[in-house]
Amino acid sequence: MARYLGAACRLCRREGAKLFLKGDRCFTDKCGIERRNYPPGQHGQGRPKFSDYSVQLREKQKVRRIYCVLERQFRKTVREAERMSGVAGENLLALLERRLDNVVLRLGFVTSRSEGRQLVRHGHFSVNGRRLDIPSARVGKGDVVGLTARGAKAARIQGSLESIETRSIPSWLELDPAGPTGTVTGDPVREELTLPIQEQLIVEFYS
Ligand code: SF4
Repeated sequence: MARYLGAACRLCRREGAKLFLKGDRCFTDKCGIERRNYPPGQHGQGRPKFSDYSVQLREKQKVRRIYCVLERQFRKTVREAERMSGVAGENLLALLERRLDNVVLRLGFVTSRSEGRQLVRHGHFSVNGRRLDIPSARVGKGDVVGLTARGAKAARIQGSLESIETRSIPSWLELDPAGPTGTVTGDPVREELTLPIQEQLIVEFYS
């Protein structure tokens, strides 16, 4: 499956915001945005011009990069969000939040979505007791996310679990550290997404 293999910090610099793509490193002074807070490339330090279209495009790209989703799948998710009842932008974020690679991050099993995506692909996680290796799989209310036998032995997951108390778990997830397992108890809450996202611009971009 295709995925972006370039420098993650370059994406943050392009969007002009910290997207937290590299786990714990993002909280240190090695962060690319802290060091060079201007867009990458030859004209990065020039004077940018913003049209309505470019603002919408950048917002779309930002959210796509935060959730590590490629364009085709992202567009399909937007269309799905539009068909649902309620506000399309909020539906979109809820659909993205319920992805398995995001849920293992929110539960503190991994430190970044890209790490979560890789470890899901390698069969380290289970949903309702069955191994699930599809990062884009969506979990719903009542689903229990846990570790497979392989996942329980993985040093990267163990390392992340050691600092689990310092991570805040969203209200729609419930963590049982003894398992460790996480249960989906409800729907994602928009107010708990602290990253600056203007989801209505994304809906306008695709309309
Ligand atoms: Fe973005 Fe900073 Fe993390 Fe690099 S270290 S991915 S620039 S937040």
